[in-house]
Amino acid sequence: MPLSTKDQLRRPLAYINLNALRHNLEVVRARAGGAKVFAVVKADAYGHGMVACAQALRTLADGFVVSTLGEADILRKSGITQRIMVLQGFMDASEARFAARLMLEPVVHQPWQVELIEKTSLGLPLSVWLKIDTGMHRIGIPPELARSLHTRLLDSGRLRHAPGLMTHFARADEADTSATQQQLAVFHAATEGLDGERSLANSAGVLSGAAQGTLGDIVRPGIALYGSNPLEYGSAADLGLKPVMRLATCLVAVQAQHKGEAVGYGGRFVCPEDMPMAVASVGYADGYPRVTASGTPVAVNGKIARLAGRVSMDLITLDMRGVHAEAGDTVELWGESIAVDEVAQAAGTLGYELLCAAGRACRRVYLPVTESEG
Ligand SMILES: *Cc1c(COP(=O)(O)O)cnc(C)c1O
Repeated sequence: MPLSTKDQLRRPLAYINLNALRHNLEVVRARAGGAKVFAVVKADAYGHGMVACAQALRTLADGFVVSTLGEADILRKSGITQRIMVLQGFMDASEARFAARLMLEPVVHQPWQVELIEKTSLGLPLSVWLKIDTGMHRIGIPPELARSLHTRLLDSGRLRHAPGLMTHFARADEADTSATQQQLAVFHAATEGLDGERSLANSAGVLSGAAQGTLGDIVRPGIALYGSNPLEYGSAADLGLKPVMRLATCLVAVQAQHKGEAVGYGGRFVCPEDMPMAVASVGYADGYPRVTASGTPVAVNGKIARLAGRVSMDLITLDMRGVHAEAGDTVELWGESIAVDEVAQAAGTLGYELLCAAGRACRRVYLPVTESEG
């Protein structure tokens, strides 16, 4: 093997299992009460590669969701012909025309965007989603404006069909569903009797069951597709979700350390006895958070070793008591043996952030789709 290839294998790789992605979409669909499933592939499909994921899902998903028109453009250029919802919508008339030309479905979340549609010739009819702020207080129009803006959009004569009506849950991940119930009530009051499709739920909204029976026409799962638990409780495995990303690297050294020796920056791990330690080629530059706590599991040859001491830029140190391994052996940071959510918890964050960061930092290797699996 030439040096370059061998050397690449010493750095972490993000293996992406597209069959697991497809499986997870079916898990969500089974819980979606007959709603259409639009796969959220913003943020480069949460680090998994937007185009590869959209291609893998093209025969399963009813549509896709991205943040920006630029992302939607890339999907169209890669041959995606399904519906595409664009969460951040358009910022000016030329962007609105662009959306119409590419048959995209931008989200309208501010009154001036309605005015722009009324005043501007778009070349082609446009499909839009009117986003109502039912409690998230991030983007969306106030519920009391829903009726009048909906009417104005219809009356503009520039739409392909009645505007879709959507909202987004702020707390659907929590075991206490009262905030979600509140948002549902606001949404229903604001939109009752209005024409148009409804879209309410993210992954947590679908899988928590909190919006059972009121999921509307289209659900918008993101994180669940990538095999991370969208809920604050339970686990991805309990929900039947399979990990899509496996972040793996190799050991660069295994060596004995003496009792009392302090390992790594800040001497944060002190060997309680004479013991084997190992060094693996991954660190915070690769998206493995620096704040990950000592004791976090790391799988080495299928056995559980423990993170020991501070995470460095591109190395971590491992407590190898009970684990036999040699330099060159494979280390899994998350994936099959260790849930990304477990590492996220040990780093005080969520699977979302880890997947996005590692997917951006590491080279991705795709396991091809086998249509029979799923
Ligand atoms: C990101 C996003 C989603 C997907 O959320 P997940 O928690 O990843 O399922 C759905 N809808 C909107 C408006 C979003 O911004």
